[in-house]
This record gives sequence, C-alpha cells and structure tokens, in this order.
Amino acid sequence: MQRFREGIHIRTMKAKRKVEEISKEDVKTFLKKNAFVLFTVGAVIAGIILGFALRPYKMSYREMKYFSFPGELLMRMLQMLVLPLLISSLITGMAALDSKASGKMGMRAVIYYMTTTFIAVFIGILVVLIIHPGKGSKDEFGKQQKIEQVSPADAFLDLIRNMFPPNLVQACTQQFKTKYGKRTVHVTVTVTVNDTLFNTTNGTQEVMEISREEVIPVPGQVNGVNALGLVVFSMCFGLIIGNMKEQGQLLRDFFDSLNEAIMRLVAIIMWYAPIGILFLIAGKIVEMDDLTQMGGQLGMYTITVIIGLMIHGVLILPTLYFVITRQNPFIFIAGLLQALVTALGTSSSSATLPVTFKCLEENNKIDKRITRFILPVGATINMDGTALYEALAAIFIAQVNNMEMNFGQIITISITATAASIGAAGIPQAGLVTMVIVLTSVGLPTDDITLIIAVDWFLDRLRTTTNVLGDSIGAGIVEFLSRNELSSKDVEMGNSVLEVKERKKPYKLISQNSDLENNRNAAALTDGQSGS
Ligand code: ASP
Repeated sequence: MQRFREGIHIRTMKAKRKVEEISKEDVKTFLKKNAFVLFTVGAVIAGIILGFALRPYKMSYREMKYFSFPGELLMRMLQMLVLPLLISSLITGMAALDSKASGKMGMRAVIYYMTTTFIAVFIGILVVLIIHPGKGSKDEFGKQQKIEQVSPADAFLDLIRNMFPPNLVQACTQQFKTKYGKRTVHVTVTVTVNDTLFNTTNGTQEVMEISREEVIPVPGQVNGVNALGLVVFSMCFGLIIGNMKEQGQLLRDFFDSLNEAIMRLVAIIMWYAPIGILFLIAGKIVEMDDLTQMGGQLGMYTITVIIGLMIHGVLILPTLYFVITRQNPFIFIAGLLQALVTALGTSSSSATLPVTFKCLEENNKIDKRITRFILPVGATINMDGTALYEALAAIFIAQVNNMEMNFGQIITISITATAASIGAAGIPQAGLVTMVIVLTSVGLPTDDITLIIAVDWFLDRLRTTTNVLGDSIGAGIVEFLSRNELSSKDVEMGNSVLEVKERKKPYKLISQNSDLENNRNAAALTDGQSGS
C-alpha cells in the first residue's frame, strides 16, 4: 500500500514538473516567436513616454533633428529596399502566373481595391456629415498660406502619364507633374469704326492686335520614385518573361534571387526597427505644436477622422475578411502587428512594404505568388485610409467655409477622393498634397488645406496604418479566392519560377527541384506542341 502511494506521488510530481517545463518552454517559444512584435509595440509605448517626458525641455530645432536621427536612419534603410523589392517582387510574382491566372487574380484584386476604397470614402462622408465638426468659422485656426493650384484634369492626365515613364532610370527618382507657366497670346480683332461726330456708321473697319497673358500647362518633374510607372513596367515585364519558357529562365532566376536577397536584408533591418520607431515617435511628439490648438473644430475634426478610420479598419475590413474566408480576422491582424506598428511609426506605406511582406509571408503564411503580386500594387494604388481622409477633410473644409454641399458635389468628392488616393504616393503626408484635386473639383478654397496641417502628421500615421491593413487583408482575401488557381498551378507548374506552395515548409526554387523541373519542362513541351 505504502509503495503504491509512493508510486502515485512520484508520478504526480513527475507530471507536475512536466507541466511546469512545458509552460516554461511555451513561454520561451512565445517570447522568441513574438520578440519582434513585443519589441516594436514596446518601442511605441516607450517612444510616447519619452516624447512627452522631453517636451517640457523645449529643444531647439537642431537638437530635435539630432534627437530624431535614429528614426531618420530607419526610414532611409527601409526606403533603400523599396525600389529593388518592388521591382523584383512584381516581376517574379507575375512570372509565376500564366496570363489567365494573373488576369483572374488581378481582376479580384482590382474589385477588392475599388470596393474597399469606395466603402472607405462612403464612411468618411457619412461620419463627417453626422458629426459635423466644422462650425463655419476660420477664426480659431492659425494663419493661412498659399497652396499651389492644380487642375483636376491635368492631375488625372499626370496619373496616366506616370504609368508610362519614358525613361526607366529617371522613374526611379522622379515623377512627371504638370506645372503652370504663362505665355503671351496675340489676338487680332477687327473693329468697325463709328463716326461719333455725326452719329453714323461709316463702315470703316480697323484690324487691331491685342496681347494678353494666358496660364498654360507645361511639363515638369518632381522628386520621388514613380512607383506607378515601375509597377506597370514590372508587371508587363514579369508577364512576358513568364511566357518565355526556357529563354526567360535566366531572368526569372535572377529576379527571384534578387528578391530573396532583399528579403534577407529586410530580416536584418527589422532588428533595428524598434529603435528607429521609438525615436521616430518620440521625435515627432517633441516636435509637435502646442496641444491647445487641438480644441474646438480641429479637435472635433481629428476625432471624426479617427472614428472613420476605426470603423473601416476594425469593423468593415475584418468583417469582409470573415465573410469571404470564414476565418478569424483578428488572428490574421495579429500576424500583421509589426507591419501596422511600422506604418504608424514611419507614416509611409512604401517604407513599410518590406515589413508587410515579412509579416504576411512568415506569420500569416500567405502564398508568395500572391504577396509578390498584390502587395506592391496595393502599396502604390490602394489607400483606403487616404481616400476616407480626403473625402472627410474636403467636406470639413466646406463646413468651415459655411458651404452646403449638394448631392452632385458629394458624388464628385467621392470620385476625386478615390482618384486622389490612387495618385497619392506611399510617402508621409502625400494625401495632403493630392487633396488639392478634391478641393478644386468642387470649388473649395485650396489654401484652406493649411487649416488642417497642424494635425496632419498624426492623422497621416493612422491613415497609413489603415492603408497597410487594407493591402494585407486584400492579400488574404485574394489568396483565398484564388486557391483553385494556385493549387492547380502547383501541379501544373506552368511558368512558375517560384516556389511550391507548401504551408509551413521552406520554399524552394523549382529550378533546384528536379522533379518539378521535369514537370515544368514537360508542360513547356506540351505547350509548345499545342502551339505549333
Ligand atoms: N502616408 C500615406 C501612405 O504612405 C499616404 C497619405 O499621405 O495618405 O500610405
């Protein structure tokens, strides 16, 4: 009996120790797995505390710049990777799909982008009309500055012009932008001379030349990567080399390996990200204007934008994800946390792109053929947060000016806000620049953009986070909808240079996998025969 009891005791103790060991192991694995996320979230909190703690010391401009230096370095590192990442991922992404599959996926992506952008614009308009933050007076705002005018028609043409850059090297550093010049126009008019003395018309005609000045659009350039042009070129180029069978193999392997190398660089930079984010946020808090400005209309406007972005990011997008995929959207979003925090810190969806790739591919196990194809396009043209913000801000400015917007004008605002969000670059405060188009389209004073500048740095961070969330959820949804094409491609391996989609297994290059290579060759042979 005694021995029996001892036996039970020993077994219980052993089991207890095992549970303790497991839980310790679990905690360790959890910490290891989520170290990046924990560091990054910790960095945001530390940045906010440090920023507010240093505000009373009233740093000089120079000191503030020195203080923000580690943050500036993070921005530069991420931006350094964007260009090669964008090009290599799009080319390999497109090369991995045949034109039919990429057409279908592209269509799904475009439908998703358009639907979510319109929903975002609708929410923006709805909340600003309900809350009505503008009280019809500009007295409480700071002084106004002049804003350069842009005609909506020219802005739209520039968008299309930028899709086709005449010089690819220049597209890596500059974009086309219509500027305005003046030219003197000479007009000849024929005047009939009246004889005023006798009050009769003697019929003499005189030809006169009148000169007048006319504002004309002239070609101009602005600094900044022409992402749209590079996206269009890379997509076409990828599609072509994907169809080139054996001849395109070298290029496919080259871009695939370039992409892989860049992603490894991203992995290194991510270790530095928490420090950079800490200083980016702390620096901005130290730098920001007095918070008393936030009272009144500007405060209400800020709250309205936050509510709109929250409805879109926390309610609409997750619901859409759940309805389509039947999976828990919040688990998906948890995997994206680091990208979202990076967006918050950098206020640039392009600079966040490398981190978004890492989160989606490693944490959420999204197929690389989808991320490589969807994310760069999304970061360039799909900006839900920006669209919501532009529509909302335009109506707020109308309210401040005591102007009632009619239904037609609201529709115009929705359309131009969508176009302006497509045209906005994924860089800090780009939305503020493209807002000129929205305001001009409904005859609102463009100089009033300066009324909301004081809070834009903050709202920009929130809308960038929404933009990145929209792109990522889009990748999840398009992957789900394209599962048939993706799995059939795994078997066929038509033109793919990429890896076999095998969840939780390391991805491999097909060219290194003899069986699949044979399959691919066989497919190419069959294609060739059927074509002849
Ligand atoms: N900063 C935003 C982004 O990079 C664009 C904007 O200003 O709305 O996504």
